[in-house]
Amino acid sequence: MEMVRFDHNTGGIMLTEHLSEAERQYYYMDQCSIWVKEQEEKLGRPLTASVVTFGCQMNSRDSEKLTGILEKIGYTMIDSEKADFVIYNTCTVRENANLRVYGRLGQMKQTKKRNPGMFIALCGCMMQEPEVVEKLKKSYRHVDIIFGTHNIFKFAELIYRRITEDKMVIDIWKDTDQIVEDLPNDRKYPFKTGINIMFGCNNFCSYCIVPYVRGRERSRLPEEILKEIKNAVADGVVEVMLLGQNVNSYGKNLEHPMTFSELLREICKIEGLERVRFMTSHPKDLSDELIQVMAEEPKICKHMHLPLQSGSTEILNKMNRRYTKEDYLLLVDKLKKACPDISLTTDIIVGFPGETEEDFLETLDVVEKVGYDSAYTFIYSKRTGTPAAVMENQIPEDVVKHRFNRLLNRVQEIAANVCSRHEGTIQDVLVEEVNHQDDTLVTGRMSNNTVVHFKGDASMIGTIVSVKLLTCKNFYYIGEAVK
Ligand code: SAM
Ligand code: SF4
Repeated sequence: MEMVRFDHNTGGIMLTEHLSEAERQYYYMDQCSIWVKEQEEKLGRPLTASVVTFGCQMNSRDSEKLTGILEKIGYTMIDSEKADFVIYNTCTVRENANLRVYGRLGQMKQTKKRNPGMFIALCGCMMQEPEVVEKLKKSYRHVDIIFGTHNIFKFAELIYRRITEDKMVIDIWKDTDQIVEDLPNDRKYPFKTGINIMFGCNNFCSYCIVPYVRGRERSRLPEEILKEIKNAVADGVVEVMLLGQNVNSYGKNLEHPMTFSELLREICKIEGLERVRFMTSHPKDLSDELIQVMAEEPKICKHMHLPLQSGSTEILNKMNRRYTKEDYLLLVDKLKKACPDISLTTDIIVGFPGETEEDFLETLDVVEKVGYDSAYTFIYSKRTGTPAAVMENQIPEDVVKHRFNRLLNRVQEIAANVCSRHEGTIQDVLVEEVNHQDDTLVTGRMSNNTVVHFKGDASMIGTIVSVKLLTCKNFYYIGEAVK
């Protein structure tokens, strides 16, 4: 690709041949930053921006990238939708996520009337649905920029187009095999960060919209992942969370295939990196090799998020999960044997089409047998375009709500019991922040992800402290630092 680039160092135009995609985007960031400076001079105040995130950890990570680009352009980030640039990074896994976005956009109409120069942008999974974009074009004309999940790296270019074209900019890609590296990003915490190791999903669970809106599975090159983590560690990061919809199938489609366990071993060699977490693990791809690496590598946190979805083999089959109740329980046994301290968490859907009381009792049975530290419980939400949406026997709302409440109560009782098993022990805690309610306390996490509060101060943030766990308060501990 060939393009003309403004060179700030020489103050002149330079012709740059064969720019990489990242270089093209840095060019647009430069262009936008000139515009931001002009606006700031005109207004006599800084231009502000805000990123509003819905949904999962993938979206949170994408939002750090959006923030990095906005900061590079020169916006001052604030935590308010009264900013000069507001971007909503959307989720569409469940229907109420969509409804929340429309609600917020409705309110923003008034906000924009008060600040007509502001920009409103939308991106993320919800934008990959054609009917959503049609609705926005028709009824939400105050939106300035719309893009999806595949071209987030083009954010600066799209802002540039909005500035220069002065009309709504829409750029949605159906799919991509492109992974653009080396763009700016701004970490929410200086000491921990999410690292994408792969994008997309090939599993097509029958209830789930993710494969349609995030595209096919693509793994990043191991050398790119290692480089990003090494740079983050040099910058003060001690904990990484490796992100993918199904990390256990990492590396299958690389030119030189590599397993997730092999990648983990390489990551654990990085000096200065203290903790490695990952999510999400699909039970059908969880290998013995991975369980062994978890047991052997002290840096790998003793926490496994292993979505169950349902405890009924029949429902699992209809969900296209490709494991049985027995397979799942066997995996849990292996994990507990290999890592006796492990904490297990899960996702469960209640009210999938055709779910009978017996099926639901199978789910409760797994919950009893596993003893989860916590579980995200969801009411099944019909997503148009997925196979489950047209299945017969959708479950009436009152039945689902009743089951959901029974499940939630049991999950909470068990979690409180399970959580207390470490009472009296000394654990390593990574301090994350000063406690919001009591500033004489700090809050951190154990390797197994359990929250601990203890006496301390801001100087401890980002360090790992030995803490004696004094009392368990259902889902967290009160402890004291030991010298
Ligand atoms: N890839 C991950 C996995 O396989 O578990 C999680 C992806 S999804 C964003 C997170 C969770 O949302 C899923 O584990 C599932 O429990 C829930 N979910 C997905 N589609 C849903 C739907 N249609 N209704 C209710 N919950 C849903
Ligand atoms: Fe959705 Fe299943 Fe893929 Fe997870 S593995 S993102 S639940 S299709």
